[in-house]
Order: sequence, then C-alpha cells, then structure tokens
Amino acid sequence: MRDSFLIFGSPMIGEEEIAEVVDSLRSGWIGTGPKVQRFESMLGEYVTAQHCRCVSSCTAALILSMHVLGIGPGDEVLVPAMTFVASANAVEHAGATPVLVDSVPGTGLIDLNAAEAAITPRTRAIMPVHFAGRPVDMDRLNALRDRHRLLVIEDAAHALGAEWRGRRIGAFGNVAAFSFYVTKNITTIEGGALVTGDREIAAEVERLALHGLSLGAWQRFSDAGFRHYEVIRPGYKYNMTDVQAALGLRQLPRLDEWISRRAQLWERYDELLAGLPLSTPPPPAAGTRHARHLYQVLVDPDAQLTRDELVDALTARRIGTGVHYRGVHLHPFYRDKYRLSPSDLPVATAISERTLSLPLSPKVTDADQDDVVQALSELLPC
Ligand SMILES: *Cc1c(COP(=O)(O)O)cnc(C)c1O
Repeated sequence: MRDSFLIFGSPMIGEEEIAEVVDSLRSGWIGTGPKVQRFESMLGEYVTAQHCRCVSSCTAALILSMHVLGIGPGDEVLVPAMTFVASANAVEHAGATPVLVDSVPGTGLIDLNAAEAAITPRTRAIMPVHFAGRPVDMDRLNALRDRHRLLVIEDAAHALGAEWRGRRIGAFGNVAAFSFYVTKNITTIEGGALVTGDREIAAEVERLALHGLSLGAWQRFSDAGFRHYEVIRPGYKYNMTDVQAALGLRQLPRLDEWISRRAQLWERYDELLAGLPLSTPPPPAAGTRHARHLYQVLVDPDAQLTRDELVDALTARRIGTGVHYRGVHLHPFYRDKYRLSPSDLPVATAISERTLSLPLSPKVTDADQDDVVQALSELLPC
C-alpha cells in the first residue's frame, strides 16, 4: 500500500514559478498588466498563431468566441457528446443549440462523418475537441468547414503542444481555446487563452473580457497619461491577472520536456498493461504529435469490476483516477432539454461507462506508475 495518495494530474510547480509570482506581488502590479502581455506573446509564438489573448479560463474563451462570432438564438453548433460540459454550456449561454455528435470508437474523437450528416440550414459552427491531446484530422475538418461555410471554434483545452502534420493546433486560422486549469498540461491555476488568425476577433475578445472597455487597466493606470475609456458593447469580467501569467511564463518553456515525459509514461503504461482486461489508447496517428494530456483506458465490459467499482477500489489503494467524461447527453439538463437517450450516441455512451484516466503528469515517477499497474493487475486478474 502507498504511503501517500497519488493525485491524478498533479501540477509541477517549481521554485521558478514561486519566484515569478513573488516578483509580481512585490511589484505592485498584480492585476492585468505586462506579464499577461508577455505571456500572450510567448503563447502566440509557441502555437504559431497570429493573435493570442489570455482570459480567466478556457470556458470564458469559449463563451467569448460565441459572442464575437455572432452565434446566437436559432443557430446550431456541432459539439461532440464526448467532452467536458463546458463546451456545450458555452453554446447554451449564447442561446444557440448544441447538436451533439457521436465519437469515433477507439480515439473518442468527434466523428466527422456524423457531424456532416447532422448539418442543417441552421448550422453555423462546429466545436471540435482535441480529446485527450490527440489532434482531430485538421485536413478533413477544414474541408468540412469550407464545404459548408462553417465557423470553427476548436476546444483545445487538452491540446497545447499537439500538432497535425507539422503544424501546431491553434495555428490553422480558426478560433481555438486553451485551458490552464490545474490539471492541464500547463497551469496558471485558473486561466485560458484564445488564439486566432483574425486581428479584429482578438481585439474584440480583449474588450469583451474587460467589461467592453476600449482601454485596459494597463493603458488607464500606467505612466502613459490619463485617458477616458468608452463602451461600445457590454462585456464580461474575464481578464487574466499578472499573478496568473507569472505562473504561465515559467510553465510554458517547460511544456515540451513535460510532454516528452508524459509520452514516456504513456508508452510504459502501454507495455505494462498489455494482457489486462482493458483497452489501452490507440497510438498517435502518423505525422501528428499527441499532447499526451490524458491516458485513458476502457475497462472491458466483462471484466471482474465495473469502471465505477474500479475507481473506488483504486481510491482505497490511494490511487487517484479521473473519468473523462460522462457524455454531455447523459447529464440531466441536456438529456431532458433535447430528449436524448444513451442509445442516440452509442459510442459516447460506451466510453462514458468504461473510460478511466490513469495518473499522468510529469510529477508521476516510474515507482508511482508501478503502484498503479500493480493495483490494476490485482484488481483485474486475467
Ligand atoms: C478543462 C476543459 C475545459 C474548461 O477549461 P477551464 O479553463 O477550466 O474553463 C473545456 N473543455 C475541455 C475539453 C476541458 O477539458
């Protein structure tokens, strides 16, 4: 039995992050300011996107995307059922209708054939999710976009560092939203970013993230001289702070090394779990870089324990796991409002019942991983 509880997706916070946060606290500028601007430049450069704006969360970025792209009542947006509910919630908040699309078996990614079949004259947009860090087929997605004149909002919460045929996710000219929530590949505790190839979209996101003001605090209160702001459209309060950006500035330079470590752990899980009554994730497609955000197994339907029993048994052995996700269609709000039944989205339903995310973070040691494998081998004897 382990001495300590193995936290699923525990973040790496080092002395550099701590020093950078302290530097912000001591500087007197703790709100949105120069560090947010520096983090935006650094991220834009990393992703190779033309424009980047940081906000308070990925959810905020998704909500602002809907607003800025003019998606509203009467519009339909294609959203995978197999995602975190924030994706669908953003569409609901806009007053538009999320049309849930099933997954491809194995990868769990949105089924682009099913998405195309669900297009109606009201369909304005598609919100693909690079699920677990695995990039969706950007060639097929963009062909679908162009054929049907769809807007694309990529939910890239899992996909910072992912690449499709040599290009980073976020660099395809669509709007894409990243998350820096605690468990994600890098963290600012809470935080998100929107990237786009469109200067106007970026400028409008910046205004709407701060009440709709024409000038940010940095322009209003710095030594550049007093200026009045004006409001053209009522906005929200979704700005990122310099204290958060301080963390991001020290995390992002380590991301590639962390993804390599995640990949090592991933391949070791593949080897060590072979033969157990569960399926391991399919390997990344050729010519892509998987961001290795989640390592998900699917528990065999005839295994000795159900997925939920397994979660409990692992917790009792001090091993934390995650469930990503129970599909959007299974949550009462969406189930009832859109009269959805589990069999309407059979692949997403099967994943919902069987999926289990094992501890995966650069903080996980080989010894931690051995504990996870040993527990699984004992709980699921072949
Ligand atoms: C984490 C996550 C979000 C929300 O991110 P926040 O930064 O917590 O708002 C959205 N979509 C997916 C797929 C996520 O995993």
